[in-house]
Amino acid sequence: MTLSQALAAKVRLIVWCKSCQHRAEPDIADQVASYGPDVSVIDWAGRLRCSACGERKVDFVVSGGDALEPSPRAGRGGNFPAGGKVRPLPPPI
Ligand SMILES: [Zn+2]
Repeated sequence: MTLSQALAAKVRLIVWCKSCQHRAEPDIADQVASYGPDVSVIDWAGRLRCSACGERKVDFVVSGGDALEPSPRAGRGGNFPAGGKVRPLPPPI
């Protein structure tokens, strides 16, 4: 998957630093502008650097949208349990 494909699929790229756990969700359109549309997300992630500690070891996950490569850790949205358990029952009459 390239950055332009990720942008077209409307996925989110969640990246985090393996060193300090700093986490970010960069805007993909900005990344396309900076790195080019044909850069694969793997290459892109390899060129990132943590803005908090400067470490280059980052991990990432593709989440949401119509992901071409679904990750077991990434939901597609709408995975909420059915049944409205969080809704309080009406008071008894
Ligand atoms: Zn860091």
